[in-house]
Amino acid sequence: MSIVAIVGRPNVGKSTLFNRLIQRREAIVDATSGVTRDRHYGKTDWNGKEFTVIDTGGYVKGSDDVFQDEIDKQVVLAIEESDVILFMVDVESGITGMDEDVANLLRRSDKPVFLVVNKVDSATRVADATEFYALGLGEYYTLSSINGSGTGELLDALVEKL
Ligand code: GDP
Ligand code: MG
Repeated sequence: MSIVAIVGRPNVGKSTLFNRLIQRREAIVDATSGVTRDRHYGKTDWNGKEFTVIDTGGYVKGSDDVFQDEIDKQVVLAIEESDVILFMVDVESGITGMDEDVANLLRRSDKPVFLVVNKVDSATRVADATEFYALGLGEYYTLSSINGSGTGELLDALVEKL
């Protein structure tokens, strides 16, 4: 089964999207230590295609360096084990240095990457998302993990790659 990983820095809304995608289904928590700590795996389907979603996280709090290192490890692991990567950013905060670091790693991988601009809860925020072109990953999808708007368009495009 195809694997889709959701990566990005903390608080952009990865777990909120994950929970929406696997609603009514069970998440499997990987109990192993280290970088896989708190990775959640769940099954979902869209347009008749089943796939596994990974919610990455479980970052060690500490200095910014440690923090970035943890995120980078999650991204490298996601690149290795996934077929498609969802890179989530946050329209409320705009681009941060951590986003740029993740984008640099993803640009070097040959896995399909979907840039997902989250927290676009209303149409007035759609225009704010254009700043994310600066990440150098091309087109992006805007969505609201909380209210679900935009998720259908993302999933339509996503399952085309599986
Ligand atoms: P994660 O650390 O990337 O997994 O982020 P979470 O899913 O834990 O969400 C972090 C915070 O952002 C929480 O307070 C969420 O309720 C909030 N959040 C997530 N998605 C959205 C969204 O689409 N819109 C808004 N306004 N807030 C969101
Ligand atoms: Mg989370």
